[in-house]
Amino acid sequence: MGDILVHIETRAGAIQPVSLELLTAARELAGATGMKVEALIAAASPQEVAARLGAADRVLAVAHPALEPYTPEAHAAILAETVRGRDPAIVLLGYSSVGLDLAPNLAVRTGRPLVSYCVKLAAAGDAVEAESLVYGGKLRATTKTKLPAIFAVTPGSYAEAQESAALPEILDLAPPAAIDKLRTAFVSETKPPPGAIDLTQADRILCVGRGIGDKDSIAIAEEVAAALGAEIAGSRPVIDAGWLPKERQVGKSGCKVKPKLYIAAGVSGAPEHLEGMSAAELIIAINSDAKAPIFGVAHYGTTCDLFDLLPALGERLKSGGAG
Ligand SMILES: Cc1cc2nc3c(=O)[nH]c(=O)nc-3n(C[C@H](O)[C@H](O)[C@H](O)COP(=O)(O)OP(=O)(O)OC[C@H]3O[C@@H](n4cnc5c(N)ncnc54)[C@H](O)[C@@H]3O)c2cc1C
Repeated sequence: MGDILVHIETRAGAIQPVSLELLTAARELAGATGMKVEALIAAASPQEVAARLGAADRVLAVAHPALEPYTPEAHAAILAETVRGRDPAIVLLGYSSVGLDLAPNLAVRTGRPLVSYCVKLAAAGDAVEAESLVYGGKLRATTKTKLPAIFAVTPGSYAEAQESAALPEILDLAPPAAIDKLRTAFVSETKPPPGAIDLTQADRILCVGRGIGDKDSIAIAEEVAAALGAEIAGSRPVIDAGWLPKERQVGKSGCKVKPKLYIAAGVSGAPEHLEGMSAAELIIAINSDAKAPIFGVAHYGTTCDLFDLLPALGERLKSGGAG
């Protein structure tokens, strides 16, 4: 049986946090199985990043100018070629926007099973037992998959490995011929207009979910946010409904935020939402359903009705009763 291959995501030369989380998961599996951990980094010049991946036993580095900016076609070709060449028993990808592209593509190209939305992995003989949060976090499914197999891990599920615990062995791999015949070309990146709010820089965020009910009720949360000196944000349904602008969306397809304070009001805590906010320093959840997954990441929580709590909190803050 082969080893563990970890797919490393980078953006503008920075290793994405989910990739460091995967290295932690891989080390746990390696400890239980005796397998080696190989990290695959494909970039225009991967050497500097490769040297920071000391948590892996070996780094496989593929260099080609077409690898940056990211296109799924180029990266999928390299990943599939590497899996065919190295024949790992376990492939780990982050279930980020990039992993959503690559993991199913890899499964189809290599004929290997794919287990998605994993939050926990454990070695089980010639298989891996995976826990996945499915249906927007409402159901926890446990699967046992015979190796070789691919696992796509939800960001925020593991602690991040240190960037440079030790200098790893680096093996340069030649890119496959397919990389010179790509049909996809990166055209441009759409950035928010100048002056638009940048939630990633906010220290305090009050995020409303579908529980807020309608557009008019957003004003209740905005009043509390103003009294707290917080930015208002929304879960995806709130943005899709047009109750708040897109730049205020938190989650997989919105902003990834790390404020000192994150209040989630009427947000269920689906994995795609948690991906954008579980790194916040202090999370307070207001949700009338005690079983809502948001309570799994919250430091403090209440099952109060948000329509009782938010106005009362707003009044208290305005009268100087809380700081
Ligand atoms: C590819 C993909 C990308 C996605 N990207 C994102 C993303 O970027 N961001 C994101 O948020 N989601 C994203 N989603 C959607 C995600 O799966 C969930 O559907 C979404 O997060 C649910 O939003 P919610 O928590 O606001 O709504 P719901 O899941 O409907 O939860 C509403 C919550 O409000 C509570 N509630 C209701 N009334 C009250 C009340 N009066 N007082 C207190 N609590 C109340 C309920 O108990 C419930 O838990 C994505 C999904 C996919 C497939």
